[in-house]
Amino acid sequence: MPAKPAYVIVGASLAGAKAAEALRDEGFDGAVVLIGAEDELPYERPPLSKGYLLGKDARDSFIVHDEGWYAEHDVDLRRATIVTSIDRAGHRVELDDGEPVPYEKLLISTGASPRRLGIPGGDLDGVHYLRTVGDSERLSAALRGGGQVVVAGGGWIGLETAAAAREYGCEVTILEPESGVLQRALGPEVGEVFADLHRSHGVTLRFGESLSSVTGSGGSVTGAISSSGAELPARTVIIAVGIAPNAGLAAAAGLEVGNGIVADKALRTSDPDIFAAGDVANAFNTLLGRRIRVEHWGNALASGPIAARSMMGKDAVYDWVPYFFSDQYDLGMEVAGLPEAGTYDDVVYRGDKDSLEFIAFWLAGRVVVAGMNVNIWDVNDDIQSLIRRGSEVDVARLTNPDVPLTNL
Ligand SMILES: Cc1cc2nc3c(=O)[nH]c(=O)nc-3n(C[C@H](O)[C@H](O)[C@H](O)COP(=O)(O)OP(=O)(O)OC[C@H]3O[C@@H](n4cnc5c(N)ncnc54)[C@H](O)[C@@H]3O)c2cc1C
Repeated sequence: MPAKPAYVIVGASLAGAKAAEALRDEGFDGAVVLIGAEDELPYERPPLSKGYLLGKDARDSFIVHDEGWYAEHDVDLRRATIVTSIDRAGHRVELDDGEPVPYEKLLISTGASPRRLGIPGGDLDGVHYLRTVGDSERLSAALRGGGQVVVAGGGWIGLETAAAAREYGCEVTILEPESGVLQRALGPEVGEVFADLHRSHGVTLRFGESLSSVTGSGGSVTGAISSSGAELPARTVIIAVGIAPNAGLAAAAGLEVGNGIVADKALRTSDPDIFAAGDVANAFNTLLGRRIRVEHWGNALASGPIAARSMMGKDAVYDWVPYFFSDQYDLGMEVAGLPEAGTYDDVVYRGDKDSLEFIAFWLAGRVVVAGMNVNIWDVNDDIQSLIRRGSEVDVARLTNPDVPLTNL
């Protein structure tokens, strides 16, 4: 009897673990091998800059599955194991430690890593990047000690860590080279809401300035120097200047790579037996009609299972509506769609922006391309439906809180 096919997943985090789950849910009865570099059960990262960083969430509250699940579902989870290369001709992956693993189909869900700044003092004690549970624990210990904190980068991770630092009682300065926070994610209009939020919590925002170097004494951070030459005393420096997809393995194997691993609408790469999902994939989204590489929890959650179905030869299409959430201080919000510059020409509001209870809609003409609900709940599905619908709306009704979003 021929051996049952082995489906191998490289990268044991949210996208990879959800793909393994979907393979079993969909009835795949071959071998499933889930290989991950971290010595952890696959876990979700959002709490690392929120509840876990603040010491409020327990460590096992954000694992994807408990340990027993992997054995119960016959998923061979290999922790602390790095895939060093993909032998496409031989249909196997090579490991840093152990025998090569043969595959019939392969999923790459290797995620992304923080962009590092090669600046003077960048490796001093007290300089932090945030991606893993260990990073979050080290940062949490540092923030608990109080003092002055300089954050490089006014994106989501920069803002969430700034909020956590304030909750720990630290003095916080954010350096952001653009003219506002979240410029790439939300654009200038809505980014300003978050700038005001942080100002109102006592954070100093320095726009048009980046981190040039870190000063230290005895191997530890004592300050940060900005591109304008300002000297800012600091005990902790958080570098949150974006992430880069972990696409080196794919590139070395000759797969098409460009801002991540290029994948089609079924999340198949340029090799028909290799698929990509999560932060590392630059995949064709049928809803938006273009390739997107999204660094969002919801994308890992959705694309892992889509890739799994595709691996099994089932119809699976990446038609996911981009979804992101964030919590900072007492503000909670969700965004649907991708409000990138050039995709919209107006932003309108339903509710009171100043009271921080509102919905923002990004419009292309009279078509909703994205929406963000702030401290208003149970409406994001309706916003996603509007985006999916893609037809013109009556803007007066859209902005009127008395008109249900389901009745536009
Ligand atoms: C601090 C933080 C807060 C976040 N907050 C939010 C939020 O509030 N909302 C939101 O929508 N998103 C948030 N995100 C983003 C979200 O966590 C990511 O989109 C998600 O983790 C992507 O999952 P992934 O499985 O694609 O990749 P990753 O989570 O990056 O996992 C990839 C895994 O692959 C492993 N790997 C890489 N190369 C190899 C190799 N060669 N061999 C073996 N293993 C390998 C890595 O070690 C890693 O474990 C946050 C991210 C971080 C870091």
